[in-house]
Amino acid sequence: GMLEVHWDIDSTSSELARRIPVLDDLSFVLAEAQSAGRGRRGRTWLSPPGMNLYLSVLKRFDGGFASLSGLSLAVGVMLLRALAELGIRTPGLKWPNDVLAGNAKLAGVLVELSGEYSGPCAAVIGVGLNIRLPDTLHERAGQPITDLASLMGGDPPNRNRIAAAVITELAEGLVAFERHGFAAFADDYAANDLLRGESLRIIDPRGEYDATGEGVDERGALRVRRANGEVSIVDSAEVSVRKA
Ligand code: ATP
Repeated sequence: GMLEVHWDIDSTSSELARRIPVLDDLSFVLAEAQSAGRGRRGRTWLSPPGMNLYLSVLKRFDGGFASLSGLSLAVGVMLLRALAELGIRTPGLKWPNDVLAGNAKLAGVLVELSGEYSGPCAAVIGVGLNIRLPDTLHERAGQPITDLASLMGGDPPNRNRIAAAVITELAEGLVAFERHGFAAFADDYAANDLLRGESLRIIDPRGEYDATGEGVDERGALRVRRANGEVSIVDSAEVSVRKA
């Protein structure tokens, strides 16, 4: 693969998506700032210049989308492994795509797929990791957000070291995911699952309800216990989960 660093770009994932046909597997694009950083379902990932990480990687898979369930959770585990290597062990995972520290969002993962359901396909995986946010960003986020500088008393690790650890974990982790799927990440996910045992609000376009987090299944779908005792499986891209 290759590794490319841009000063300013619309979105690192958009850049990879435009070049899927010509890029090698495990190509990485990083940027100092993004003018149109994305979250799920058209939401914005605030991406000011300064000291944050905006990074995307292209990974091809032969087995199609059908083989990729749990990928965004596995990427969350890869991020936690990279942070742990740097001595940062406080963050945990909020299904399906957030890294939180003390209820505030530290990093986000965005997986976008193209290709076939059961043939060759490509995943563009975007990661935003806050290292040092401008103060003005907090009110714009609409939810609690945090950065490594706040978690580490103002003194986060060098950004190049953070980038290197994340890139190394992604390159290794995505190959492990290709071979073994979510199974290679399930134990680490469970050990860092911030929703297990918590009272949750499940925001499903077909109707909202309250439930208790019961971990994830072997495909990475969320298991929740509803008030009537029944366990439901939540795995739609349209669903959001909040702590109640
Ligand atoms: P869901 O649970 O449905 O995924 P979400 O709020 O986690 O909801 P995402 O699409 O994962 O949504 O991420 C986008 C959201 O993240 C934005 O709407 C904003 O609230 C928040 N956000 C935007 N920029 C940042 C940032 N730099 N750091 C942390 N959080 C951010």
